[in-house]
Amino acid sequence: MTTQEIMNQGEEYFLHTYNRYPVVLDHGDGVYLYDTEGKKYLDFCAGIAVFALGYNQPALNEAVKNQVDKIVHTSNYFYNEPSVEAARKLCQASGLEKVFFCNSGTEAIEGAMKSALRYAYNRDGQPGHEIIAMKHSFHGRSLGALSLTGNAHYQDPFKPLISGIHFAEYNNLESVKALINEKTCAIVLEPVQGEGGIYPATEEFLKGIRALCDEHDILMIADEIQCGMGRTGVMFACQRYGVKPDIMTVAKALGCGLPVGAFVTNEKAAALAPGDHGSTYGGNPLVCAAASKVFDLYEELNVLENVKTVGAYLYEKLEALKQECPQIVDHRGIGLMQGLEFSVPVGDIIKKAQDAGLILINAGTNILRFVPPLVITKSDVDAMMEILSPIIHEL
Ligand SMILES: *Cc1c(COP(=O)(O)O)cnc(C)c1O
Repeated sequence: MTTQEIMNQGEEYFLHTYNRYPVVLDHGDGVYLYDTEGKKYLDFCAGIAVFALGYNQPALNEAVKNQVDKIVHTSNYFYNEPSVEAARKLCQASGLEKVFFCNSGTEAIEGAMKSALRYAYNRDGQPGHEIIAMKHSFHGRSLGALSLTGNAHYQDPFKPLISGIHFAEYNNLESVKALINEKTCAIVLEPVQGEGGIYPATEEFLKGIRALCDEHDILMIADEIQCGMGRTGVMFACQRYGVKPDIMTVAKALGCGLPVGAFVTNEKAAALAPGDHGSTYGGNPLVCAAASKVFDLYEELNVLENVKTVGAYLYEKLEALKQECPQIVDHRGIGLMQGLEFSVPVGDIIKKAQDAGLILINAGTNILRFVPPLVITKSDVDAMMEILSPIIHEL
C-alpha cells in the first residue's frame, strides 16, 4: 500500500476515536523514527513515555524473539519463568511485595481499586467504600479508571460512573483531609501528573498523604504508570521523597513497547483472594520476558544516571527558552518528564516540529510535553533544541 492508501484505509476501517497525524510510521532505531516515505524523526514522545530504552534495542529484541520461539502464552493456570522473574524484579525495584500482572495501565488501576475496596471490605465487614482522587488526574479509560479521572470532558458522556469517588485539589493537603470519612478506603494520585499537564507533587503533599493514610487506615495508591520506571531519575517517582505507597500501578515503560501493566502491593494491601480478580493474558511469558529484560537493561545501561544528567541538561535548555519567549508561561517537571506551558495552544508548534523532523506531544491544549526515551544524550537534546528554538522564536 502507498502511504496515502494506508491512511485512507485507516480512516475507513478504524473507529474514529483518535485524530491521527498524517504520518505512517515504519520503523525505529535508537531515538529516531522513520516513516514510510523515508523521513527521519527525532522522537521526544517515545510512544507516550513507553520506549524508555529507545527503538530496536538489540538485547531487548533478542529477549523477545527468543521467547517467541519458546512459548508466548500459558494462561495463569500455570507458572512460567519470565513472569516470576519480572515479578521479583518489580518487587525489588518498588520495595513492595506482591505483583499482579495485567495488560495496560487502565487495568492496573482497576486492580488497584479492587484491592482497596477488598481491603476495606475485609476491614469493616461490609461494602460501600469511597476513594479520594485528584482533580486534573488521568488514570485511564475504562469505567472504573475513568471514575478516578478528574476531568469532566472525559467523564460527562459516560455518567453515572462508580459512586463514592471524591476529588481533591492536587498539592493541597487540606482539601484531601476535608474529604476523608470512615468510608474512605484509598487515596489515589500520580506522583507527577502526566496528561493533566506535568505537575509534580510537592514533598510536603506526598509525605502528607502518606501520613493521612497511616492515621486513618486508608491505602495510598501511587499511579506510577507514566512517571515511574525511571522517568524522574529514580525508579519510581515516590522514591524521590522516600515515600512508599501501599499500592503502586505500573505500565507504559514496564514492557518498553510490549503491552504489560501491573499493580504491586505491600503485604497489608494484598487483600485480593483466589477468584477475586484475573486476566487471561495478564503477565504472559512474552510480555514478561520483555519486562524482565527491561529491568536488567536499566542497570546495564545506567538509565537512572542518564535521566538525572540529561534531564538536568534539558531543564536548563528549556528554562533558557522560557526566558526568551513571552508566550511560555511556565516550565515544570523532573528528569525526562517536563512540560512547557504556553499562553496559546501548542498544536501549531507540534505540527511545525513534525514537518522539521521532531516528534513532540502535548498534555492539554497549551502544554508541550517532553517524554523522550530515557537513553537520549545531551547531543539529542541539542538537536531537539535546534529544531524547536526557531519555531518558538517565530511565535
Ligand atoms: C497512560 C496512563 C494510564 C492509562 O494507561 P493505558 O495503558 O493507556 O491504559 C493511567 N495512568 C497514567 C498516569 C497514565 O499516564
